[in-house]
Amino acid sequence: MSAPSTEKIEKVIKSGLCTRCGSCVGLSNGAINFADREGDCLPHISAEPDAVRAARIAAACAGAEADFNALNTAAFGADAGRHEYLGHFESIGIGHADDPQTRSEGASGGVLTAILLWLLERGEIDGAVVTGMDERRPWLPKTFIARNAEEIRAAAQSKYVITTVNEILPEMEAFTGRLAYVGLPCQVHSIRRMQAAGDTAVKSIRFVFGPFCGNTLHFSSIKSLLRSYGEKDHTCIKRLDFRAGEWPGSLRIEMQSGRVIELPKFHANYLIPFHIMKRCLLCTDLANEFTDISGGDAWAPVYEERGRGFSMVFARSAEGSRIIREMQESGALSLASLEPDEALKMHSHGYDLKKRGAFIRMEFLTKLGLAVPDYGYELSGFKPKRYVMEAVLDQLFLLFGTRVSRAALEHVNPEHMGAIFQRLRTLWKKSTHNIKREQLGE
Ligand SMILES: Cc1cc2nc3c(=O)[nH]c(=O)nc-3n(C[C@H](O)[C@H](O)[C@H](O)COP(=O)(O)OP(=O)(O)OC[C@H]3O[C@@H](n4cnc5c(N)ncnc54)[C@H](O)[C@@H]3O)c2cc1C
Repeated sequence: MSAPSTEKIEKVIKSGLCTRCGSCVGLSNGAINFADREGDCLPHISAEPDAVRAARIAAACAGAEADFNALNTAAFGADAGRHEYLGHFESIGIGHADDPQTRSEGASGGVLTAILLWLLERGEIDGAVVTGMDERRPWLPKTFIARNAEEIRAAAQSKYVITTVNEILPEMEAFTGRLAYVGLPCQVHSIRRMQAAGDTAVKSIRFVFGPFCGNTLHFSSIKSLLRSYGEKDHTCIKRLDFRAGEWPGSLRIEMQSGRVIELPKFHANYLIPFHIMKRCLLCTDLANEFTDISGGDAWAPVYEERGRGFSMVFARSAEGSRIIREMQESGALSLASLEPDEALKMHSHGYDLKKRGAFIRMEFLTKLGLAVPDYGYELSGFKPKRYVMEAVLDQLFLLFGTRVSRAALEHVNPEHMGAIFQRLRTLWKKSTHNIKREQLGE
């Protein structure tokens, strides 16, 4: 039987609710670690953390419980409202970093990187928690504290495989100065829980920023793609970019041999149903709702056709709004304001997946007696056809996620697979357009 202090974490791991945010590992003083980063990447408890650490870990873990109202209060104060789809916000904009280099090096409009650079230059922060690629193992992401512009720039771009950002908590705790923190929604949930609990590990954080997140993939996605091209050894990767080149960019893998494998982002998306981290299917935060500022891609034909990167940006806190305003005034950022309805429509697919699909999936799992996260709020009342659509989608996720399907996939040419996937996705999006937009945000 597990000791009481790690019981909660063990339960979260065993029930499939672990988000891999890394907080338990970071707070455990070596007692918990990620045993298999290139596999399931689950925390492994090798020793019992002392009682104080165990209590901190339990308070930080957002895998089973992330009360959105409590997180909203922790981030924005008790009086702040919360839009159930978009989260709390003061303004929404579409635009990009004005510096062409920052814009082109970023995942979409380079906005998150531009914000960090601007804050560092003005002395508002002394460092930024960012996620780049590991120099020693360039096929894996690595979180670090960037202390200069070059390091911030090196971490630009999205990483679409599991990142365990909060492992860096000990370094954050030891840091003297003010930090900006950049993390995915699930990682931010844990940070906000720690802030609410007064944990010293997060005392240096002055600002919290983060990308939108539809989902993340297991590292098996990269290994599988390589095998499709006849490359057996992922440790021969010299450089891995998930959004290389002109927006929306390509998944680009450069091997030590000099061979370059490249797939347009929308084609590489075919890997999602096969390698998605299943916990993402139970997450209800697309737009990183508890950050000071969050940014996503400005998905709309009018922007996509222009090629150069555009971001959708939410200024959520008063400080977030101030940063956006002053950056615009100083010519660091160009943003045009956007109405909430438009913002919803531009990501209707993502909101449908995470705000409606996730709640329906949780309903299905609860009926089966399986564990689901508690977000302290629930969206319900969806039409029967939305349930039917979800049942079909979930069967596909189950089928594609099996070892057999993954193995079979490797025998298909990724370029053909990507093109087919994109066509099917467009067809699917068109045929479910009305179901997905009906009642959205009501
Ligand atoms: C896993 C994942 C899923 C996403 N899903 C969607 C989606 O469904 N819809 C959508 O509109 N946008 C999504 N995004 C966001 C989008 O890809 C861009 O990150 C966002 O538009 C910000 O672009 P930017 O040019 O301003 O950021 P950049 O200037 O490129 O800066 C990105 C910052 O995010 C940090 N970062 C990157 N990847 C990670 C990671 N995996 N974990 C922690 N920190 C990271 C980097 O350190 C960097 O500081 C996703 C991003 C990620 C990482």
